[in-house]
Amino acid sequence: MTVKENFEKIQHEIQVACQRVGRNVEDVKIIAVTKYVSDERATEAIEAGIKHIGENRAEEGLRKWQILNGKATWHFIGTLQSRKVKEIIEQFDYIHSLDRLSLAKEIEKRAKKKVKCFVQVNISQEATKHGLDVKGVIPFISELSQFPSIEVVGLMTMAPYVENPEETRKYFSALKQLQKDVQALQLPYAPCAELSMGMSNDFQVAIEEGATYIRLGTSLVGKEI
Ligand SMILES: *Cc1c(COP(=O)(O)O)cnc(C)c1O
Repeated sequence: MTVKENFEKIQHEIQVACQRVGRNVEDVKIIAVTKYVSDERATEAIEAGIKHIGENRAEEGLRKWQILNGKATWHFIGTLQSRKVKEIIEQFDYIHSLDRLSLAKEIEKRAKKKVKCFVQVNISQEATKHGLDVKGVIPFISELSQFPSIEVVGLMTMAPYVENPEETRKYFSALKQLQKDVQALQLPYAPCAELSMGMSNDFQVAIEEGATYIRLGTSLVGKEI
């Protein structure tokens, strides 16, 4: 399948999911996760009209940025090591994986402009997953007031992979609730208007529960490597 064909099918599925809950399709942005595919396939995604690209590794992400730069909005969706912060915040528009104070400190040290971050939450409390515990999110965001370069644009999570995506609903609705709790604090640096949740397997459910960015690899650009 071409990216264009996948993209059209997914746009239709997004429309149906939005209709079920009375949301506008424009409020759901699609990030094409190109970590499994070649530069050619990533280029094809942009030619198909995709506006957002996500990468989870610094070196590979920066390399693809070099080739495709200026043609998309760039999202860093993987674990960010402190030594990679400088380059990543220069080239990428959004960081989806802010999950510790040491990383916030490094971002602050290196930032030349505001850095748009999602706070990553381990909503299912799986030992293998990155992100803050639910209980830790509000205290963490409160502490971010000491870092004027950081803007908390939203929350991000990865639900566990399950056969039946319906089982992920409780995690997505919990992230939505947490977003409301953050918004209630009315912190100027944490508008927290976005929810980055939903992947190939579970994006329809995530949309029904309020996702504003869905991150699609396999179902959109495929998996070549
Ligand atoms: C790989 C990855 C995705 C995309 O996964 P698919 O299941 O292939 O859609 C989304 N989010 C993150 C954080 C990832 O690492």
